[in-house]
Amino acid sequence: MQRLFSPWRSKYIEKFFHSEDEEGKCVLCEAFQANNDDEHFIIMRGKLCFVIMNLFPYNSGHLMIVPYRHIPNLTELTDDESLEIMALLKKMTVALQRVSHPDGFNIGSNIGRTAGAGIDQHVHFHIVPRWNGDTNFMPTLADTKMISEDMKETLVKLRRAL
Ligand SMILES: [Zn+2]
Repeated sequence: MQRLFSPWRSKYIEKFFHSEDEEGKCVLCEAFQANNDDEHFIIMRGKLCFVIMNLFPYNSGHLMIVPYRHIPNLTELTDDESLEIMALLKKMTVALQRVSHPDGFNIGSNIGRTAGAGIDQHVHFHIVPRWNGDTNFMPTLADTKMISEDMKETLVKLRRAL
């Protein structure tokens, strides 16, 4: 049996978000409340949810779809929120396809610390573009905090592709 690959369960993502938690802050709430979308790598805002780039990407173009409401569980999402999350996952898949032509995608969520959630108080959904053979370089990529020109460029390109 092949192991299920969950690229968003990176040790580095975990460490970062846990340290934020200890200060009692929610990085996702802070990001959209700051009203500086460029600085916080927010690609777009929907009615009930927003799309943000992962600052510790497992792969170039690693995004997260997040409801504005600070709720921990999937089951607490309203029908409208659930619909918008799925619609945004589809929309971002198309945008990523246009910008960087991935061979596939990992889409998923970790619910609860036990399942590997870094921010376990604010439910969010990852979308990670995948290219053939990318597992070869990804571990080194995940080792570096990638707030770089490269990410800003991706942000601009994705917005244009929407
Ligand atoms: Zn929050």
